[in-house]
Amino acid sequence: MDVATNLKNIQQNIQEACNNSNRDPNDINIIGVTKYVTIERTKEAIEAGLTDLGENRMEGFLEKYTSINEEVNWHFIGTLQSRKVKEVIDKVDYIHSLDRLSLAKEIDKRANKPINCFIQLNVSGEESKHGLAPAELSSFLTNLEKYKNVRVVGLMTMAPHTDNHDEIRNVFKNLAALRDEVQSKKLAYAPCEFLSMGMSNDYEIAIEEGATHIRIGSKLVGDNE
Ligand SMILES: *Cc1c(COP(=O)(O)O)cnc(C)c1O
Repeated sequence: MDVATNLKNIQQNIQEACNNSNRDPNDINIIGVTKYVTIERTKEAIEAGLTDLGENRMEGFLEKYTSINEEVNWHFIGTLQSRKVKEVIDKVDYIHSLDRLSLAKEIDKRANKPINCFIQLNVSGEESKHGLAPAELSSFLTNLEKYKNVRVVGLMTMAPHTDNHDEIRNVFKNLAALRDEVQSKKLAYAPCEFLSMGMSNDYEIAIEEGATHIRIGSKLVGDNE
């Protein structure tokens, strides 16, 4: 299926999820995750109207970044090794995977301006998942204050792979509650307005629970083209 058709379907589903939850579709940012697809397909996505692209590995990110001349917002959504920070830091607009102080320290050291970061949380508690445990969030935030180039714009999580919608919804609800907690601290370096949650199989639920950034790969650009 061409990207434009996929995008149209997704936009319809977004509209429906917004209707269900009294939200404005303009508040939902679609990040096209291009990690599975070619540069040609990525360009097709931009032509279809996507303004935000996400990659989860440094190599894939740099390949797309250097081949795409159009103005897009670049999101780094995967685990970022500290030693790779210097390669991407002046190219990314958002990092969705801040999950440890050593990474914050490296971002702070390499960046020339405050970098928009989402703190990644492991809400579901699955061992395979990256991210901070929710109980660690408060002290983590306190420790971030000294890193002037780290700006916490939101929280990010990945839901478990399951058909159990209640379980998925719970994870998203918990992330939204954590975001509210951070916001209530009114930290200048952590406005934390955003929620990066929802992928191809669960973005409608994520929107109903407050997602502002959904990261969609397979159902938007595909996973093998
Ligand atoms: C691959 C990936 C996505 C997109 O996954 P789909 O299920 O293909 O939509 C979203 N977020 C992260 C962190 C990913 O690695």
